[in-house]
Amino acid sequence: MNKQPLRCRVQVVLPIEKPYDYLLPYGTDGAQIALEPGQVVMVPVGRRVLPGVVWDGDADENVPLKKLKEIVSVSEVPPLREELRKFVEWVANYTLSPQGSVLKMALSVPQALEDQVGQKLYRLSGDALSKEGEREKTRLTSARQKVIDVVTNSGGWTSADLAREAGVSSSVVKGLEKLGMIESYFEAPDFFFPAPVSDAVGPELSPDQKAAADDLVSRVQGRSFSTVVLDGVTGSGKTEVYFEAIEAALREGRQALVLLPEIALSSQWLDRFKQRFGVAPAEWHSDLTPALRRKTWRAVASGKAPVVVGARSALMLPYSDLGLIIVDEEHEGSFKQEDGVYYHARDMAVVRAKGCGCPIVLASATPALETMVNVQSGRYERLILPGRHGGAGMPDVELIDLRFDKPERLQSGPGWLSQALRGAIRQTLEAGEQAMLFLNRRGYAPLTLCRTCGHRLQCPHCTAWLVEHRRFRRLQCHHCGFSAALPETCPSCGAEDSLVPCGPGVERIVEEAKLLFPEANVALMASDTMTSPAATKEMVDRIQNREVNLLVGTQVVAKGYHFPYLTLVGVVDADLGLFGGDLRAAERTFQLLHQVAGRAGRAEHKGRVLLQTSDPKHPVMQTLKEGDRDKFLEIEAETRARGNLPPFGRLAAVIVSGPDESELDNFCAGLARSIPQFDGAQILGPAPAPLALLRGKFRRRFLIMSKKTIAPQGIARNWLSQLKAPSRIKVVVDVDPYSF
Ligand code: ADP
Ligand code: ZN
Repeated sequence: MNKQPLRCRVQVVLPIEKPYDYLLPYGTDGAQIALEPGQVVMVPVGRRVLPGVVWDGDADENVPLKKLKEIVSVSEVPPLREELRKFVEWVANYTLSPQGSVLKMALSVPQALEDQVGQKLYRLSGDALSKEGEREKTRLTSARQKVIDVVTNSGGWTSADLAREAGVSSSVVKGLEKLGMIESYFEAPDFFFPAPVSDAVGPELSPDQKAAADDLVSRVQGRSFSTVVLDGVTGSGKTEVYFEAIEAALREGRQALVLLPEIALSSQWLDRFKQRFGVAPAEWHSDLTPALRRKTWRAVASGKAPVVVGARSALMLPYSDLGLIIVDEEHEGSFKQEDGVYYHARDMAVVRAKGCGCPIVLASATPALETMVNVQSGRYERLILPGRHGGAGMPDVELIDLRFDKPERLQSGPGWLSQALRGAIRQTLEAGEQAMLFLNRRGYAPLTLCRTCGHRLQCPHCTAWLVEHRRFRRLQCHHCGFSAALPETCPSCGAEDSLVPCGPGVERIVEEAKLLFPEANVALMASDTMTSPAATKEMVDRIQNREVNLLVGTQVVAKGYHFPYLTLVGVVDADLGLFGGDLRAAERTFQLLHQVAGRAGRAEHKGRVLLQTSDPKHPVMQTLKEGDRDKFLEIEAETRARGNLPPFGRLAAVIVSGPDESELDNFCAGLARSIPQFDGAQILGPAPAPLALLRGKFRRRFLIMSKKTIAPQGIARNWLSQLKAPSRIKVVVDVDPYSF
């Protein structure tokens, strides 16, 4: 009697909704090899062979055998645990994303899976660093130089990864190896991150800190799920408190995950961790080399990475036994991913913690409105750290009304700093202290305009002005990366010497600061000037050593750094970001300015914050001045509740995009005609999306607004399944959009 061959379901890492059926692979003895759900396998899909995971549930026995393909191979990596498989399903369902796309994030393919045993990796050779090597380097072809640049930044590349990163063929890598400029070595297959010293002693905690830490520690020991908001101003010692919770998780023999906004993944945080625990944690973010990515993924899966700190994607890693999640700066918008799978890492982290049976801590000085509403409803608990550590006071916040204290013109053009702000800077510098000027805008000027015909220089691919970056002598689009040289004549009317920069970016503030305070040491800190971790560290050191006394910066300075001698913060344009009708415009502005203000002053020196505004009556400005965060939240909650906006109602954005505008509008008109009627929900649109043209694609938006009790996912599913999009049109649903 012929036995039926055995089959199983495999979820492939392609944007597909459900697992496919496959035949179990045959071993050398001719018998089929049994597999468990969670095992990572390679399977044929069309003409390709792709990674996938054996999924739960039975294959459909009615599918004819000849339609089934056989699993090609079984990976050595630890199987994905049931907890993670369930999490992948949950995230896919909630975000309306294909399960395969979510799984792809969890597998971190392609890099995590490539077999790493005895892997051959490349680094810069000792010879290349010698004098002769330096001379040799200048004679290399540009392709070879690219490779050298990559390995100079960091070692640990496979030949293929190195060639891909440098954008050259792998023969270039071989050539350099022959030349002796780079060398290969074998990586030890079993990689682990050293265990932190879990009985290292932290600082002595204040009574408030101690109470909060004890609470968290007992939750960690209790090994059950709960969500706790750790609420305290900047400098109140939240980090010290959650370090205690991490230590408790380590003592329990479980892993701890710390999610930080990418921007806050600073060397300062890592240094503190090292000081406290003796070793570095495993890091997970977009800058890891493929080799380190592989190692880290495996170490996390096999429990050899006790503490992981990372940006939002670290949430998807295959923890073997997660005992604690911390989301620091939980209010940060960068936890929301807005491409591929649209998900909010903070919200999904709560779900993951539930699945892992562990507590989750949301730390912030300015918790998000939805977080506070969850506290009020009792879903989340709250621990408060009432004051700054060591009794340091909060800075005084003053408003400068730009309508009355208009910045004077400079010889070189308009100025942006009012008399009051100039005076305060002078005082601060004379007292031997540091001042910071904050403007959340990179570059020199956000807009370039022709004085003769009024033409504005716009990105050819986006609805966005080109931003002048004088340091690089270029215009840049901040949305698609398009860049061009500054033209000498107006591209529209041809007038010469007629293009003028409009409005300030940080580079322009640096110019003004140098002009007004020639004796000061002015430095600029923005994401595009801090090109490497080393450059950032050098700058941070210079500020800490007080080689810099007047710092100009974008939001990178607002987040993640402590500068002990900084006593004055001047916000050049506090209104920036308030307008445009975005859902979270006020909240985001409040959070950012509150955080910037928190940079001023520490234990010995009281801080002072000056906000330049044209709208001093605005609730954001008033509550910042009064230092009354809860009042701001109250006002904001009222506004949202009135409009039935999140978190009091639910929202999903449907973004429809395509290269052909009339095809797009036709399709959107069809969608609009098929909008069903709902009780307690409505669909608005289509309207131009906030960036109506982005990277050459036209974009339209519908908004699904529903009562809190109605999930917009079901509505979106029903409605959108009625009309199939033409191949060039893409429909994306953003559930709980961060901005709109
Ligand atoms: P937050 O995370 O709330 O901004 P931090 O934990 O970074 O606050 O603490 C602010 C500063 O105060 C840090 O330099 C930290 O080392 C210090 N600090 C906090 N708590 C203590 C403590 N109990 N003893 C000594 N220093 C502390
Ligand atoms: Zn662009």
